[in-house]
Amino acid sequence: DFVTTAITMKGTRSEKDAPALSQAELKKQSMQEVRRSLPIFPYRDDLLAAIHEHQILVIEGETGSGKTTQIPQYLLEDGYTKGGMKIGCTQPRRVAAMSVAARVAEEMGVKLGNEVGYSIRFEDCTSERTVLKYMTDGMLLREFLTEPDLASYSVIIIDEAHERTLHTDILFGLIKDIARFRSDLKVLVASATLDTERFSCFFDDAPVFRIPGRRFPVDIFYTKAPEADYLEACVVSVLQIHVTQPTGDILVFLTGQEEIEACCELLQERCRRLGSKIAELLVLPIYANLPSDMQAKIFNPTPPGARKVVVATNIAETSLTIDGIIYVIDPGFCKQKSYNARTGMESLIVTPCSRASANQRAGRAGRVAAGKCFRLYTAWAYKHEMEETTVPEIQRTNLGNVVLLLKSLGINDLIHFDFMDPPPHETLVLALEQLYALGALNHMGELTKLGRRMAELPVDPMLSKMILASEQYKCSEEVLTIAAMLSVNNSIFYRPKDKVVHADNARMNFVVPGGDHLVLLNVYNQPGIPALLTHLPSTASYPPRLQAVTAGYFYHTARLSKGGYKTVKHQQTVYVHPNSSLFEEQPRWLIYHELVFTTKEFMRQVIEIESGWLLEVAPHYYKSKELEDSSSKKMPRKQGKTKEELG
Ligand code: ADP
Ligand code: MG
Repeated sequence: DFVTTAITMKGTRSEKDAPALSQAELKKQSMQEVRRSLPIFPYRDDLLAAIHEHQILVIEGETGSGKTTQIPQYLLEDGYTKGGMKIGCTQPRRVAAMSVAARVAEEMGVKLGNEVGYSIRFEDCTSERTVLKYMTDGMLLREFLTEPDLASYSVIIIDEAHERTLHTDILFGLIKDIARFRSDLKVLVASATLDTERFSCFFDDAPVFRIPGRRFPVDIFYTKAPEADYLEACVVSVLQIHVTQPTGDILVFLTGQEEIEACCELLQERCRRLGSKIAELLVLPIYANLPSDMQAKIFNPTPPGARKVVVATNIAETSLTIDGIIYVIDPGFCKQKSYNARTGMESLIVTPCSRASANQRAGRAGRVAAGKCFRLYTAWAYKHEMEETTVPEIQRTNLGNVVLLLKSLGINDLIHFDFMDPPPHETLVLALEQLYALGALNHMGELTKLGRRMAELPVDPMLSKMILASEQYKCSEEVLTIAAMLSVNNSIFYRPKDKVVHADNARMNFVVPGGDHLVLLNVYNQPGIPALLTHLPSTASYPPRLQAVTAGYFYHTARLSKGGYKTVKHQQTVYVHPNSSLFEEQPRWLIYHELVFTTKEFMRQVIEIESGWLLEVAPHYYKSKELEDSSSKKMPRKQGKTKEELG
């Protein structure tokens, strides 16, 4: 780009500039060659003919065959965007939406955000000119609020359908419905080689278009005994492959950011120690919160003589294809949401992945040549301990958000909504009850004014209630900041394994009374004006903020009791997370933002409240008897942080 600009400005072209220009040309040419070499390319015309003929088509193809990047371009070339009509393509994951849009923009030689764009929560990279729009499934769902018939779209591609995320499942029902009266709308349901018959069946026997993949054999190796520490086992396996196996990149599947960072650090550390004894090993992480310039690095070709190891979440299972992978290391775990419809508790748990997932992971090793997959579990565990497939998210999550959205779309009868797999009845009922308690629905189950305002905010009902309640407590600015800080996952405090003491000390410097939400606010306010740094707000301003949080999160109340905390309504034992600012304090009443299960049920992000507030904000939910204080003084601290609690 730089060279081109310089030439234009001078208005002349010198000899030495020429190669740079032709290099750009070459790149464009080679990209077109790559496009033509993809498994989907020979089927381009047949596919377009099938789309022309059928309103709804299920498309099945091996990961990497070109479904996500090519089909929208084919449709564009075939005239589906005439008159400014859009082609929408949904992705369950933010990273995939961004990365794929960037790739397609590059292939088309346009600037990202112009003809090709993406839209994910809190980030809209599209413009008036955008005709190919990649977006998360959640964003398309929200578009129904402003455009209930999706009139500006000529084609909707529900991609990665096999992932069966909550939002994708809801889209199935809504899109099937609008397709009935929008006969001009084309609907494509794209999936890896899983479950396609079910999609066809759901969409009234829509035909399935199969793109034969190229697959090389993958040798699968199991461990003889279960691994006690799979992270360590990953590190060892990577290094073993690196020193003993022929060229080819490595892909490691871990469950989340913390694990991935730890693994990358360990790998870098050991490579440093081995120094020039081994060939260069490029260690590249990929997970949802990774900055996008870092994400893009995983696609860079590996320099000759070196080897690349990509340490990924299950984003690399089917959503992203990294060329050149020959070795896959699969510890067999993933992070999964689970939901207890009796208690209303949602938790994120590291669990064994399904056999279907394990097979997709192994498949990543056989895209470019014969590969090897090292499973860090036993063959017995594969056969007996793993589920066949993953349970659809709709059956293991809180439905509050989706129910609120459907209600605001005027869909009142949720029991008879066209679900591909219906959610458990109790979960639906609980969602309705919670929305009623929050004031979003009236006793008839109809949307209230507050409910409509809540639905407009792209966050969970409790969070939107908290934000809207802050008006009344006159602290919207602060509560909005808190809401934003709570929405960026747990990545505010970095806690590398080898600098735990430093990290914890640094965190302590941000502690203010009242609890973690106020600590987050304090962190956010720090890079302000230096003179204000030591000037903490007076204690008197805390309660309104805490009350606003309580107005949204009164469901998440826990009371100090013997040995820990118990949730008020269900008497479930829960613990303050050791990283919380209130870990030592043990206040009598707490509200937590979320519950995570690692070694125990930990409450993450907690604040101290007065039980009286609960009666104020949720009189229809709490009775004063439930909130009587049984103990009059604080419990003594019983223990220091144990190693497992820190894990
Ligand atoms: P599918 O959706 O069928 O899994 P994709 O359309 O995502 O396949 O990918 C097709 C091919 O495009 C991949 O095999 C890869 O070679 C290339 N590709 C996709 N995304 C990128 C990217 N961000 N950078 C480089 N190459 C990419
Ligand atoms: Mg894809």
